[in-house]
Amino acid sequence: MDASVMFLDCPAYMDRSGAARCGLPAAVEWRYTMNSTDGPLESAMIRCPRGHFFNGPLESLLWDKAAAAPGQQGTRSTDAIRGQGRAS
Ligand SMILES: [Zn+2]
Repeated sequence: MDASVMFLDCPAYMDRSGAARCGLPAAVEWRYTMNSTDGPLESAMIRCPRGHFFNGPLESLLWDKAAAAPGQQGTRSTDAIRGQGRAS
């Protein structure tokens, strides 16, 4: 029996503007393949500790945590370099 549990960052929005995401580790409770017009879609049911629940294609459940987290912009060096170029 495979006891390993897969986790995704919870994609739930925490405000109306969509700027903040939940981001807690959401356990993948069930994985399945959904048929679509573009072919089979890898899908999953996930649930996070806050009670958010999602059921759909993995593609729609994944998001870029580094880009979405507030206050993380300073860690992206390319942005800093671009900013300096514009200022001169
Ligand atoms: Zn959540």
